[in-house]
Amino acid sequence: LSRLRVALAKGRLYEPSVERFTRAGAEPSADAGRRLLVPSSDPSIDFLMVKPGDVPVYVESGAADLGVTGTDVLRESGADVLEPLELGFGFCRLVVAAPAGVPYPRLPGGITARVATKYPRLAQSHFAALGRPVDIIQVNGSVEVAPLLGLSHWIVDLVDTGNTLRANDLVEQETVLQCGAVLVANRASQKLKLDAYLGLMERLERTPA
Ligand code: AMP
Repeated sequence: LSRLRVALAKGRLYEPSVERFTRAGAEPSADAGRRLLVPSSDPSIDFLMVKPGDVPVYVESGAADLGVTGTDVLRESGADVLEPLELGFGFCRLVVAAPAGVPYPRLPGGITARVATKYPRLAQSHFAALGRPVDIIQVNGSVEVAPLLGLSHWIVDLVDTGNTLRANDLVEQETVLQCGAVLVANRASQKLKLDAYLGLMERLERTPA
């Protein structure tokens, strides 16, 4: 039987991912500690622990055969991978938000709005599809404070409960994307390691979210 390397993201999706694979018979070995490549209770499956934003590139390149990632990260990456399974966790949405009192969807005087986001590609195509020119400003964190600091007029960011937006006096305006965790697969290894791939898929599908 061929071996499958599965890339797991070390952020919010980590615990539910491990739980799902454990129920499917592949539990990462307990002494994993700081190791990045970890064997599991299933001898045909190893886990690779990577940063959330890196899962699509590991899987697209074939450095990992499979991976778990959010559709926000996946669509932003543009990676060419298969998406055989929605995993039923990690739900959130990518939204446009504006500070209370800041006009939306147009600024007065024909000013081009600046939009701060960790998702420049998704934000750009959202506004382009609506025919609204904006300047996208890419940041890597603390997006919610960008308007407060004068960096941007609006933001595009992930929302779960909405608490973070409310705490920063931001009002949700539009949904860019509904997000959730998906299993992604490398196109070639799905064919080359078909036996192991089908075995794992069958066990994951038998143990739904
Ligand atoms: P909330 O306050 O529950 O609306 O959560 C929003 C904050 O959590 C923002 O800082 C988001 O960037 C972050 N967040 C929410 N959901 C996710 C997710 N699925 N993945 C990564 N970050 C998230």
